[in-house]
Amino acid sequence: MRWLLDLDRRGLCSVRPKEPLRFWNTWCVGGCAEAVISPRSESALGCIRKMTSEEGVHAFVLGEGSNVLIPDEGLEGLVVLLRDDTSPPIVEFSSDSRVEVQVSAALPLRKLLNWAVRRGLSGLEFAVGIPGTVGGAVAGNAGAKGRSIGDLVTFVRTIEEDGNVRVWMGNELSFSYRKSGLSSGRSWITSVGLNLYPSSDGDIRQRLKHFASFRKGQPKNAKTAGCVFKNPPGGSAGMMLDSAGCKGLRVGGAMVSLQHANFIENLGDATAGNIIQLVDICRDRVRDKFGVNLELEVRVLGDGPSPPEG
Ligand SMILES: Cc1cc2nc3c(=O)[nH]c(=O)nc-3n(C[C@H](O)[C@H](O)[C@H](O)COP(=O)(O)OP(=O)(O)OC[C@H]3O[C@@H](n4cnc5c(N)ncnc54)[C@H](O)[C@@H]3O)c2cc1C
Repeated sequence: MRWLLDLDRRGLCSVRPKEPLRFWNTWCVGGCAEAVISPRSESALGCIRKMTSEEGVHAFVLGEGSNVLIPDEGLEGLVVLLRDDTSPPIVEFSSDSRVEVQVSAALPLRKLLNWAVRRGLSGLEFAVGIPGTVGGAVAGNAGAKGRSIGDLVTFVRTIEEDGNVRVWMGNELSFSYRKSGLSSGRSWITSVGLNLYPSSDGDIRQRLKHFASFRKGQPKNAKTAGCVFKNPPGGSAGMMLDSAGCKGLRVGGAMVSLQHANFIENLGDATAGNIIQLVDICRDRVRDKFGVNLELEVRVLGDGPSPPEG
């Protein structure tokens, strides 16, 4: 991939060859990618997208890796990191009742939330405690307690497989529970338009407290990827897993959290294989007890062995 070395030499991206991916996901597991690339501009990203498509090279886009499982075999191909952008949101439109902002997909969601709170803008309070980037949140329609980022999206700017920019309107993206029209990873999100709503400091703090209260029963400072399974219609995956006796189950260095049965913790030396085995055991237990096939919320990347979909 001479073009990649050329982009690197020209300072348009940084390239880390044979990079262990455990450094780039919150479960801290997984093998290497052929290279991990951090593009420095949207046009460099377009070039990477176009060249990988033309040459048939697999390319995976990652934000903070807080909702993915990377196989121990690693990923055949390139990983493109879109994270750690700290440029502040741009206000596109402002009235007494609505403010529209344009935000980089690589901005951490928590930074966007802090920015909005400081300016008296409401809408994102559900995101308190959700790690990851704005791009990752939009791709998977991240949310909590019935609220999700898709409710706020006005437009999404992406790089498509041919390297060109496309702008999607929010209503084209079919946001649903932890899913969007961009979940497949084929379109790479570079920026997002969001509606926020002016509100009093007191109301915003109240809502933050409300959403933060749901985090109390979740493991803190543990290596996890958030909820492993989606809630089935009308049910709670966490409660089913708990009632099926999953809390504390262990395979190698992976353990079902004692605080919340829908979280799997890497105790230090877990492999992706350990996590996959534990996922299978948990799913079997819930199927046996409730006759329900739990669907994964985390995304298993690559072609390595993965737990079958529920
Ligand atoms: C402690 C903890 C608590 C959590 N709580 C919640 C919660 O309450 N609600 C919730 O919804 N999630 C939760 N999560 C899961 C996770 O934080 C969110 O799903 C988050 O939005 C993922 O963002 P990310 O940048 O880490 O995405 P990644 O994990 O890097 O990627 C996730 C998927 O999005 C794709 N993607 C990432 N960036 C882009 C982009 N720019 N363009 C196109 N596709 C992209 C990836 O290819 C991948 O398929 C939690 C995770 C943890 C560790």
